[in-house]
Amino acid sequence: MAKRDYYEVLGVPRDANEDALKKAFRKLAMQHHPDRNPGDKAAEAKFKECNEAYDVLKDAEKRAAYDRYGHAAFEGGGGGGGNPFGGGFAGGGFEDIFEQMFGNFGGRAGRGGAQPSGRGSDLRTEVTISLEEAFAGTKTTIRVPSSVTCDHCSGSGAEGGTAQTDTCGTCKGAGKVRAQSGFFLVERTCPTCNGAGRIIKNPCKVCNGAGRVQRDRNLAVTIPAGVEEGTRIRLAGEGEAGLRGAPAGDLYVDVGIRPHPIFQREGNNIFIRVPLRMTQAALGGTVEVPSIDGGRARVSIPTGTQAGDQFRLRSKGFSVLRSAARGDMYVQVSVETPQNLTAKQRELLEQFEAEAEANSRTSPESEGFFSRVKEFWEGLGR
Ligand SMILES: [Zn+2]
Ligand SMILES: [Zn+2]
Repeated sequence: MAKRDYYEVLGVPRDANEDALKKAFRKLAMQHHPDRNPGDKAAEAKFKECNEAYDVLKDAEKRAAYDRYGHAAFEGGGGGGGNPFGGGFAGGGFEDIFEQMFGNFGGRAGRGGAQPSGRGSDLRTEVTISLEEAFAGTKTTIRVPSSVTCDHCSGSGAEGGTAQTDTCGTCKGAGKVRAQSGFFLVERTCPTCNGAGRIIKNPCKVCNGAGRVQRDRNLAVTIPAGVEEGTRIRLAGEGEAGLRGAPAGDLYVDVGIRPHPIFQREGNNIFIRVPLRMTQAALGGTVEVPSIDGGRARVSIPTGTQAGDQFRLRSKGFSVLRSAARGDMYVQVSVETPQNLTAKQRELLEQFEAEAEANSRTSPESEGFFSRVKEFWEGLGR
């Protein structure tokens, strides 16, 4: 039975935000809840379906995986390579598997990493990009130390390209050998044919019959705009070559993003801290701030702006994955107390201070604070 698209299940557009997802889910869950539909199998199925859809879409990582790979992102099994999203996204078991794959990277020719079917191992690598690159998307070239199909024998493992095989003399075609170990007879995979039961009569001189050789490859990777730290890109068939023409494994590229000296990212929003001169904050005006797309944005600062005040610039934030939409940019201001005053500045500020003392409305927060302090003391009868 074909599975329905998760967005379709919840009846929301693909760029629905968290709130819209939650609303749609709640409505459907109420409607199809088993308590409301006792004995109704169809309602139960619908209830499960919307639960499953919401479970994936409410989780940013799972949702990104779903957007990229569809239901395939969560189908477990599927042979040796397995699926990184199948059994628990960051499950310990899976990490171990990746560690082993990683271990293969610098290692010897990858016979050990091969699957029993001969399918090549999956490989994992990392690429670190700047925040600007994550915003705009980028193309990068990665070097993958890997074994590739042997050119000399076109992967057949046979010299001259024609694979003539003989029954393995060691195991007589069984793929297993028995050996005496103390009193016991133990069965092992045949070391001559690696369990295949047959050996190549005329093995390729370049790869010794394995059908693949160790070689670094340069691979172009397209990183889409809006990627997040830890986004995993799957390049099907770009992993280790299979044994004697068997399918290659997949390559997983984990994207890391370098911290930025100016911008902080939270989801699709961007935060930037901008210092204002005390007088700028008091008098108001406009300041120019950089935006992640390399442009400039103007923020108008109202008179009497306080330290910590935040201004939102709509759609100046991060690009949203698989969408033309953008998040917002938040500009948080700090107010700088002037230092190293000139004689003139000091004089002006002293005049200002004298004026401020006469006008309590200049500093509403101080005014409120000191009147509370006064009440506090009066309350104690001092
Ligand atoms: Zn054998
Ligand atoms: Zn070869």
